[in-house]
Amino acid sequence: MRFLLTLVISLLCSNVQASVVLLDPGHGGEETGAIGYLNNARRVNEKDLSLRLALKIKQYLEKDATVFLTRSLDRNVTLQERADIAEKVKADLFISVHFNSSTDRKAHGFETYYLDNNKDAAVKKVERQENQSLSGEDLVVNQILIDLTIQQTVQASRALALSVHGRLKNHMKPVRITNRGVKSGLFYVLALSKRPGLLLEAGFVSNAQELKLIQQEEFMERYAQAVASGVKDFIKKKGP
Ligand SMILES: [Zn+2]
Repeated sequence: MRFLLTLVISLLCSNVQASVVLLDPGHGGEETGAIGYLNNARRVNEKDLSLRLALKIKQYLEKDATVFLTRSLDRNVTLQERADIAEKVKADLFISVHFNSSTDRKAHGFETYYLDNNKDAAVKKVERQENQSLSGEDLVVNQILIDLTIQQTVQASRALALSVHGRLKNHMKPVRITNRGVKSGLFYVLALSKRPGLLLEAGFVSNAQELKLIQQEEFMERYAQAVASGVKDFIKKKGP
């Protein structure tokens, strides 16, 4: 009996272990992503925050999954290169980590995106920011592929988004950051990766008050723990 129990537990663990998650810190190198300024005028780049957060998520997630990063240093990686890495490591899930920015300096809060079409004007703005490094021609050629990818991944991606965001919603309450909800958007890095995934917008660097919060260690730790828990919930529910 005891032997059987051990066998079942180890089989269950190996299924979870078999999941490969690719974490994708947004931007890098010359591509700084959004730029914010703290009250003391110190400049903060989105690319640095996204790397810090992705490294923390990796720490929390790698007990339960095999985790890779599209970059672990401050360097340029094109959207296509990020997708190629997903292919190379045979990623089951692709999670792109970003921080938001708006011309409205008061805009604040965190949101979780999955890949699907969305006509909402506010979402279009976020799409433009995160899709910047792909040229116009590529976009036209890839439209059919994008539609196909949406068809194949939207169900799993939406479930993953709900799972991760559900954890974030509860776990971020003590640090008082606004929950902007789960949304769909056309993010090319998700489309090119061709697997279920998310794009996290973990707070606004353009809002000085929020920037002060999001670059704190406590915020980073909490966010990373919640994302890792949400991914684990999803993997467990999905089964082998
Ligand atoms: Zn970004």
